[in-house]
Amino acid sequence: MSEMKPSLYDYTQKELIEQIKPAFRVKQIYGWLYHHYAENFEDMKNIPKALKEELSEKFIVNPLSIVNKEESSDGTIKYLLQMQDGKTMEAVWLKMKDQQIDESGNVYQEAKYTICVSTQVGCKVGCTFCLTAKGGFTRDLSAGEIVAQVVTLKRDNNHKYDRKINIVYMGMGEPLDNLNNVAQAIKVFKEEDGLSIGGKRQTVSTSGLSTKIDKLGEMDLGVHIAISLHAVDDELRSELIPMNKAHNINSIIEAVKRFPIDTRKRVMFEYLVIKDKNDDIGSAKKLVKLLSDIKAKVNLIYFNPYPGTPYDRPTRADMVAFQDYLLKHGLLCTIRDSKGIDISAACGQLKEKTQGEI
Ligand code: SF4
Repeated sequence: MSEMKPSLYDYTQKELIEQIKPAFRVKQIYGWLYHHYAENFEDMKNIPKALKEELSEKFIVNPLSIVNKEESSDGTIKYLLQMQDGKTMEAVWLKMKDQQIDESGNVYQEAKYTICVSTQVGCKVGCTFCLTAKGGFTRDLSAGEIVAQVVTLKRDNNHKYDRKINIVYMGMGEPLDNLNNVAQAIKVFKEEDGLSIGGKRQTVSTSGLSTKIDKLGEMDLGVHIAISLHAVDDELRSELIPMNKAHNINSIIEAVKRFPIDTRKRVMFEYLVIKDKNDDIGSAKKLVKLLSDIKAKVNLIYFNPYPGTPYDRPTRADMVAFQDYLLKHGLLCTIRDSKGIDISAACGQLKEKTQGEI
C-alpha cells in the first residue's frame, strides 16, 4: 500500500495559510485547486519550483483518479474513483432540467447539475436493499477525498468553477457516521475563494442517525438534510435498515424537528418504494400522519432490483396512487425519475461490476 499523504483538498484556505508560507502563495494555490482543478503540482505554473518540491514532500494535490465511468442516455454519469491506497468508491454526475423564466416572461429549460458524493468506502448501516452494505465497511473518506470528488467531476465535465452545482452527500456510506470529515468538506466547499458552494446547495442525506442529526444541527453549517425514511412503522424499517433499532422513527422525527432549517425550505424525506412492502395506501396514510408537524417534502423512489435482491420494483399504478394520496392530503410529493436506469443505478453497482477489472 502506498503512503497516504494528506491532500491540499483537505483544508480550508486559512488552514493552508497556517502551514504554507508565504500566505500569498496559498491564494495562488487555491486558485489552481478550485478554479483550474489542478491535478498535481506540475500544473501550478506560477508557483516556484522549490516550494512545489517542498509541498510535494508533505501533500498530494488530487487524491483521486477515474477508474471507470458509465454514461446514461439521460446525461447521468456514474464514476468509479480510486484513492491513494487503491480503494475505490463512486460519485455521480446528475443532470436535471430546471424551469426558468426570462425577463420577457418566457419559460425555458436550463440544465441544472448535482453531484452525488460518497463519504465512506462501504457502510456500517447495513440496509438490506443496498449493494454497498453487502461489502461491509472499509474506511471513512477524508475531507479531501470528498472535496476532490466534486473537483474531479467538474473537471471531467468542463464545468467552470463558478457554474452552480448542488451537492448531495448520498453516495456510498452514511455521511453522519463520518461527521467530522463531512463537516470539514462542507466548510471547504463553502470557501469564497474556492468553489463557493453555499450551505443551501448542500444536502446531507442520512439513514437517520438521530443523535448525529442533532450534532450536525449544532454545527450550524446552513446545510439541508434529507432523511431516508423508507417505512412508516419500526418493524419494517428495522427489516430494511437494521440500525433503526437504535434510532427509531420517532427519534428521527423529533431530531428533524430540532434541526435548524431554513424556514423557506422543506425537509426531504426519501421513501424507497418496494413492491408489496410499503407501496400500499395504508402506508401512505401513516406517512401523512407522521410528517404532519414538519414542513416536509416526500420523494418517492422506485426500488431498482439488482441480482440477488429479494425485493421488487413497484408498479407505476401503485406509485402514482401513493403519490396522489399524499398530494390530496397536503403533503408535497414527487416521484424521482429513475436517473441512470440504463446504467448501474443502485448505489454500489458500478463498483461491484468493476471490482474484477482493477
Ligand atoms: S443505503 Fe446508504 S446507509 Fe444504507 S447501507 Fe447503503 S450506503 Fe449505507
